[in-house]
Amino acid sequence: MIWTAAFLVVLVSCADPEDYCYDEPSCDPYSWGESFPLCHPLLELHHSPINLDHHMIRNDSLQPLHLEGFEEVQTGHWTLENDGHSVVLRVGSGMAVSGGGLPGTYHTVQLHFHWGGPASNGSEHTVDGHRYPMEMHIVNMKSIHPNVSAALDDPTGLAVLGFFIDVVYADNLHFGHISQKLSSVAHKGQTAKIKPFPMMSLLPKHNMSQYYRYQGSLTTPPCSQAVVWTVYEVPIYISWSQLAQFTSQIFSTEEDAEQVTPLQNNFRHIHPSSGRTVLASRDATLLTGTAAPPPRSALRLLHVVTLGGIALRL
Ligand SMILES: [Zn+2]
Repeated sequence: MIWTAAFLVVLVSCADPEDYCYDEPSCDPYSWGESFPLCHPLLELHHSPINLDHHMIRNDSLQPLHLEGFEEVQTGHWTLENDGHSVVLRVGSGMAVSGGGLPGTYHTVQLHFHWGGPASNGSEHTVDGHRYPMEMHIVNMKSIHPNVSAALDDPTGLAVLGFFIDVVYADNLHFGHISQKLSSVAHKGQTAKIKPFPMMSLLPKHNMSQYYRYQGSLTTPPCSQAVVWTVYEVPIYISWSQLAQFTSQIFSTEEDAEQVTPLQNNFRHIHPSSGRTVLASRDATLLTGTAAPPPRSALRLLHVVTLGGIALRL
């Protein structure tokens, strides 16, 4: 029995060659292509994330998406899970997205997050080189597909809605539905039930007509080029303490692991647009120069904090 137990421990502690990570050279995003061929940047050209800049084309037909069921409280329960790479909220059935130039109806499957560290930002997409503190992805699968693997074979099989997350001083009460449960999923493999809430309450509901659209890939292995990306211009705002729950209190290791590793910087590096067209929706403001003030980064806000109330605008 002792030998068996010891053998199992060795097995469990060995890195799974089919797994991936963000923090070790042997399995970080730059080496994903060795285990997941589609992730190789030289073989495949249309990767995500990208930097969103002024080289866009406005398309007036890109009006707000139709978000079915997002205003309602769904029945049953949702499940929050730490899968070792992110915190994922699986939302069951009942929600779907369509319109806004999407080629079909897509059922909402899950949402998850990407973040940085205690003093660094961690969104996946960037805007004019600016990286936001976090990014949330709502993943939707084209309804005609029976399963995810079928959707990944379709260049437009998935529609992912990306939302930047920025930081302010006040808690986001709606975001509390998720952040209050984070301590229950601190370690890899842990799950927690969440009472459904209206998905729209998380989103910048007055600015849903402002977004960017491009064709790209999953930002995690297997990196399939199967994603119609919709990246919204106006961020979700959460508090510093809500951000810190992600950057300091979520771990990529299991609860009984000998060495506990924080899950940080779980974002993939920026990829070139490689001739792809990035479209701006009818109401997107990036192109007009009349946008709201430029986004303040977490680090800039940090400066304001450390300067102790001195009214500086950085
Ligand atoms: Zn993602």
